[in-house]
Amino acid sequence: MPIYEYRCHNCGFIFEEFQSIKADPAQTKCPKCGEQRSERLLSAFSSVNASGSGSVASSGGSCGSGGFT
Ligand SMILES: [Zn+2]
Repeated sequence: MPIYEYRCHNCGFIFEEFQSIKADPAQTKCPKCGEQRSERLLSAFSSVNASGSGSVASSGGSCGSGGFT
């Protein structure tokens, strides 16, 4: 099953979901704010945050950098 990357339209949080290819992005819930408007980004398979080439400095991203591994 592919991993998709989503960005929440509401809070800008970027997260990943295992989903079937048929899954509807509109039903993907932001784990941070619960908003169901997420935009599917181009997926990188297996999102290892490999050592830092320009990382994501998103505005308003004060997300408690919790469960990322
Ligand atoms: Zn959100």
